[in-house]
Amino acid sequence: MAYDPNNIFAKILRGEIPCNKVYEDTYALAFHDITPQAPVHVLVIPKGAYVSFDDFSGTAPAEAVAGFYRAVQQVAAQLGLQSGGYRVLSNVGPDAHQEVMHYHLHLFAGCDLGRMVKKGLAAGG
Ligand code: AMP
Repeated sequence: MAYDPNNIFAKILRGEIPCNKVYEDTYALAFHDITPQAPVHVLVIPKGAYVSFDDFSGTAPAEAVAGFYRAVQQVAAQLGLQSGGYRVLSNVGPDAHQEVMHYHLHLFAGCDLGRMVKKGLAAGG
């Protein structure tokens, strides 16, 4: 899928629409999700134009990949999430219900987050 520069996160990166910023460095921007699904729900996005985890991890320069994941850890540390724990999640494509076609990681924390996925999805489960 081609990258659409008019997606909402591209507009946030260009400063065309606001966000509630948590962290920014050369490689990444982190901001609070507009519809939080946990007491802490932060999105971390790379500054480059990548559609998804698949696109970013497969095609971005190694420095950008390393810089991005270091930034995710910095966000968790800055928010003090390590002691209670947190969940990192990325939706890729239709089965995962990816809505915004700019790669992003969801960072959830602040309570018992329960199971990883909806119950009963595994074969025989
Ligand atoms: P996904 O389904 O993984 O693509 O998740 C997209 C996320 O982006 C959802 O959790 C939305 O609530 C969030 N979102 C959409 N627009 C904004 C926005 N302008 N600022 C912050 N979060 C947003």
